[in-house]
Amino acid sequence: MRNPESITVNEDTRLIPVWSIVAAVAAFVLVEYYFWMVLPTQQNHHPPLGFHIYFSLSWGVLAALYFLMVGYVSRDAPRRAMSTRFWIAICFVMPGGIGAVLYFLLRQPEVSRCPACSTHVQSDFHFCPQCNYQLAANCGHCFRTVRTTDQFCTRCGHELATDHMPARLRVMGE
Ligand SMILES: [Zn+2]
Ligand SMILES: [Zn+2]
Repeated sequence: MRNPESITVNEDTRLIPVWSIVAAVAAFVLVEYYFWMVLPTQQNHHPPLGFHIYFSLSWGVLAALYFLMVGYVSRDAPRRAMSTRFWIAICFVMPGGIGAVLYFLLRQPEVSRCPACSTHVQSDFHFCPQCNYQLAANCGHCFRTVRTTDQFCTRCGHELATDHMPARLRVMGE
């Protein structure tokens, strides 16, 4: 069983696929190429070197972030039962990362499957809506979430071992 507390930032960074990292690096290189090799030949008036470095780096990073963001959405959307194609299209079409902002505002909670009956369940469910399988450890008295190692409920002091089916044991796989 997956413990909600074990979901860390680390796990989130592994959600960025290799192709989007490659695309991000390529985009950065292309932008730098344009700024240093193409642009100077077209301009009569040259901006100061500091400005040139600043603009080339910031546009390069922006282009790279764009591809990392699309890569992240392509991995993250399926976990939330959201349309991957739709959200990748939104991220591409909306300028300046507005698509990504919309995505983070509107994204659904993560979904997984009930270990007992394979129904789609959200990460904040305590019980499976179809088969009543206990998905998260909770107190048998106040039904708030508890940790699987707790002996007593931190909210109401209920002794968890006295529950008809002790939550912590059932979630750990009995
Ligand atoms: Zn179920
Ligand atoms: Zn309680």
